[in-house]
Amino acid sequence: MADSDSQKKTPHKRDDTSQPMVLPGIHRYQFFTNLKDRGWTMNLDRVALFGIVGALLATVIKPLLRLNPATIYCYECRACYATQDRCPVGISLQAELVVAGRVSDYDRFVRNGGLKCIRCGNCQSFCVQFLPLPQMFAVMQEETRSAMRSGLVPRESLGKALDGGLVGKEFIDDVVKALS
Ligand code: SF4
Ligand code: SF4
Repeated sequence: MADSDSQKKTPHKRDDTSQPMVLPGIHRYQFFTNLKDRGWTMNLDRVALFGIVGALLATVIKPLLRLNPATIYCYECRACYATQDRCPVGISLQAELVVAGRVSDYDRFVRNGGLKCIRCGNCQSFCVQFLPLPQMFAVMQEETRSAMRSGLVPRESLGKALDGGLVGKEFIDDVVKALS
């Protein structure tokens, strides 16, 4: 009776003797056992862990769902910037396009000239991973085209891209329509 009274008064306190013994006199505290006895603040580490795992899964799952899985493998090392004047349309920040494709960031893609890429492949040989950059950019271009039709690309960004010559001829009609 006295034991059950003390348990009621200290519901979060765990008792050494209730834990498995690993060596004589040494008890091992188990994770995920006795959770019902723990105050929620004692589980913040686990909440953080699930948050981190969730964010990592989102980073991987989004490109998979968008059919652009190769973007996951980009190190963001920026070695592809060495393409420089070998890019016929003057795109200088290829890694920005890759990262934009990974997270479906249309604004970033458009701002960095993604819609003027002609998918020549010249930048691919500068990629330390030899990622299929032209195919990755093509997927993102089509995704951006659909997003423009749904009004998901910021008009301001499209307007600036059009004025700054960052839109290739095959996308001009879509951009003009999105702006009208
Ligand atoms: S694939 Fe696109 S970004 Fe790469 S060099 Fe060709 S035009 Fe430039
Ligand atoms: S070189 Fe390749 S891995 Fe490195 S940032 Fe460019 S695309 Fe990503």
